[in-house]
Amino acid sequence: MIGIRDYKRAATLEEAYQLNQKRGNRLLGGMLWLKLSRNSVQTAIDIGGLGLDKIEETNEGLRLGAMVTLRQIELDEKLQTYGGGAFREAVGRIVGVQFRNLATLGGSIYGRFGFSDVLTLFLALDAEVCLYKRGRVPLRDYAALPYDRDIITHLLLPKAAPLAVAYRSARLTKTDFPLLTCACAVKSDALQIAVGARPGKALLLSGLEKYAGRRLDEEEIEEIAHHAATTVPTGSNTRGSAAYRTHLVQVLCARALRDCFRKEDGCGADADS
Ligand SMILES: Cc1cc2nc3c(=O)[nH]c(=O)nc-3n(C[C@H](O)[C@H](O)[C@H](O)COP(=O)(O)OP(=O)(O)OC[C@H]3O[C@@H](n4cnc5c(N)ncnc54)[C@H](O)[C@@H]3O)c2cc1C
Repeated sequence: MIGIRDYKRAATLEEAYQLNQKRGNRLLGGMLWLKLSRNSVQTAIDIGGLGLDKIEETNEGLRLGAMVTLRQIELDEKLQTYGGGAFREAVGRIVGVQFRNLATLGGSIYGRFGFSDVLTLFLALDAEVCLYKRGRVPLRDYAALPYDRDIITHLLLPKAAPLAVAYRSARLTKTDFPLLTCACAVKSDALQIAVGARPGKALLLSGLEKYAGRRLDEEEIEEIAHHAATTVPTGSNTRGSAAYRTHLVQVLCARALRDCFRKEDGCGADADS
């Protein structure tokens, strides 16, 4: 279990950043992951008083503060309009309501966990990460960066919402870590599919250019799902084998794509089919 010597509630981001440069100090999100570690922390840095708990519409798109909780993401109306239920579907199975009331977006993105539902969805949505010192970095690049001591202040979602978004995951039991995750976003000029919990970090599928900007028929959906299953690397762990995950890549990609085109028709998605 984690041990903490001192606690500091930062008055500014600069103060939080300076404190975070010291080895041994640690930034706090919701502390749900952190508290399970065996670290000994000198100073725990609380950024909860810096107004980073808001979901706002800006000229550039939707701006989500790093201290926004997964429960806010699940319930926020702007996000439901933007993603048509995909946000609720992506985070709504993470442990339980009390847990989601604490777990933060910043902690989830910084962690870049191999099992992350949050990373999978935000990757498909082309999110950008706003870092206090480094500035804006596309999430697809941030996901590959080594862990450092910068602070995530916000995530940005592009102003133009996708035409449709769908999220699917497979779990052995309802609130367990996912066995596989899949998010699809249909944009006017692109099709984005992210697959996570492979069990590695979520990644974006390449080679989808020819499917961009148009409606797909069932044959093309199957073709993409097959392409995903043959290109996405999977592995085995206690929850499932690589072969089973590869099967799930194909199934979940096809279902998420069908959800998207059903949503485009205005029929909504049937998340449990
Ligand atoms: C039992 C359990 C089950 C889980 N199941 C799932 C699941 O099914 N699906 C899923 O997607 N996730 C799951 N998670 C992960 C969870 O949703 C959160 O992503 C995780 O707890 C981290 O968020 P946090 O707010 O608790 O961060 P913390 O634990 O407080 O911090 C995590 C790390 O991020 C750093 N950090 C925090 N905020 C920032 C910031 N703004 N800038 C830079 N660094 C920062 C911290 O210093 C720390 O190193 C699970 C976690 C646990 C403990």
